[in-house]
Amino acid sequence: MIYKFKFEDKEYTLEEENLEYFANDENEELQEFDTEKVLELLSNSNEAEFQNAYYESCCSNCRAGKEEKKKVFDFLEFYFYAYGKNNKFITSSIDNQYDKKSFTRLNREGIVDKSYLVTVIVCKNCGMYSIEVEEFEL
Ligand SMILES: [Zn+2]
Repeated sequence: MIYKFKFEDKEYTLEEENLEYFANDENEELQEFDTEKVLELLSNSNEAEFQNAYYESCCSNCRAGKEEKKKVFDFLEFYFYAYGKNNKFITSSIDNQYDKKSFTRLNREGIVDKSYLVTVIVCKNCGMYSIEVEEFEL
């Protein structure tokens, strides 16, 4: 699976090869959820919109800005929510599988019982990216 997007006239390609890391929640790992799944969700959604983000540590791949001694480093970021039941991935806030029902609604209907924040962080310079999954109490 490959996901491409444009930002300020530059094209970024997210695929297995330029993934830096995929970090799942340490205590409550969301199962059946991986890079492939995230790229698939991004590709099938028209809601994915990356924005500028600034981090205090530079990209470990290209170290852009390090030589210039910048205090913050340029990244692009997009986040969405993934919903699971019994720690297994069921649906997300960016797919239409359950007609865009809210977590509260899906939870009440017994379809999901946990929500996770999924953050995709892309180096603005070289396009290397990471995915972080954290349990998120709504
Ligand atoms: Zn980089």
